[in-house]
Amino acid sequence: MTFAVDTDEPGHTDEARHEIGVDLGVKDFAVISDGERVANPRHLERKARNLARYQRRMTRCRRGSMNRRKARAKVARAHRKVRHARQDFLHRTTTNLVRRADTIVIEDLNVRGAMSSASGTLDQPGRNVARKSGLNRAIADCGWGEFRRQLEYKCERAGRRLVVIDRWYPSSKTCSACGHLLSELSLSTRHWTCPGCRTRHDRDINAAKNILAAGRAVAGNTPGDVCGAGVSRQGSSLPQSAVKQKPRAARRAT
Ligand SMILES: [Zn+2]
Repeated sequence: MTFAVDTDEPGHTDEARHEIGVDLGVKDFAVISDGERVANPRHLERKARNLARYQRRMTRCRRGSMNRRKARAKVARAHRKVRHARQDFLHRTTTNLVRRADTIVIEDLNVRGAMSSASGTLDQPGRNVARKSGLNRAIADCGWGEFRRQLEYKCERAGRRLVVIDRWYPSSKTCSACGHLLSELSLSTRHWTCPGCRTRHDRDINAAKNILAAGRAVAGNTPGDVCGAGVSRQGSSLPQSAVKQKPRAARRAT
């Protein structure tokens, strides 16, 4: 867990207009536009392996036997541990994000689509990496859906704005400094230099910055079109605060 927990100055988060974009992935659970990385917790992986081991043991016990019953209890306990560890990690992460920013922009990640996608045109690294065997479970385990659910209700409760942008937006391939769009960017490329403005980019931080810019454009915070192509509002599942002010604000801005 690389998250630095800021010491909270009272009132700080209420007054500061701090906005962040969040890029979700597999290598790191999340990368924030201000450069922070949230690593996937190792202990979760370890607990998942324990669970698998107990499940294998259980299948070796004769049905209806006392040993089988004991083994089943162990499996159930291992299950709970995995679930609690994941929930705990997600809660700490989302609470921290909501504390430090009053606008949070995320991509609309369809987790099921990510796990079964056969298309090579996806831009978000996690989705492509997912096609490699063995990582499907890692994706399910990292809990993007639950992450979003928690962000939604915590943002609403704290009066923060959550903006969800279109998942087809090419956030990785667009230069966050000048808007130059690369024709392709291989998944193994972690750093690149923009041919347009020579800015050196960390792949994930650049993506998070673009997600933030796209979210600002969607929410009508920033006049003009900020990398606006391909960005759209995602309808019904957005918290009210993210949707309502949009149309008028956007018109005023242009
Ligand atoms: Zn550039």
